[in-house]
Amino acid sequence: MILLFGFKRVPEVLAVVTLVCQFCGNPAAQRIEEWTTKFTLFFIPLFTTRRRYTMQCSYCATVSALGQDEAERLAASGARTGGSGAPTAG
Ligand SMILES: [Zn+2]
Repeated sequence: MILLFGFKRVPEVLAVVTLVCQFCGNPAAQRIEEWTTKFTLFFIPLFTTRRRYTMQCSYCATVSALGQDEAERLAASGARTGGSGAPTAG
């Protein structure tokens, strides 16, 4: 009997936030991504073995690792800037 097993990495964009990049120094969109590594059996993902968080600058494309707390905080702040950033008329 042959067992086909392996690992699959699945990226998911949590948020896009505008920050001053620590590498190139430009205020640019930073993509906050969650990389989930899943164990697969016969190409079917069964369970998550590892979770990583990264931030990629859209200007210089440098990828830096993030902690889970920092990634979630940035994702939450990115979700809020969608509508509340503009001043209200009236
Ligand atoms: Zn940059």
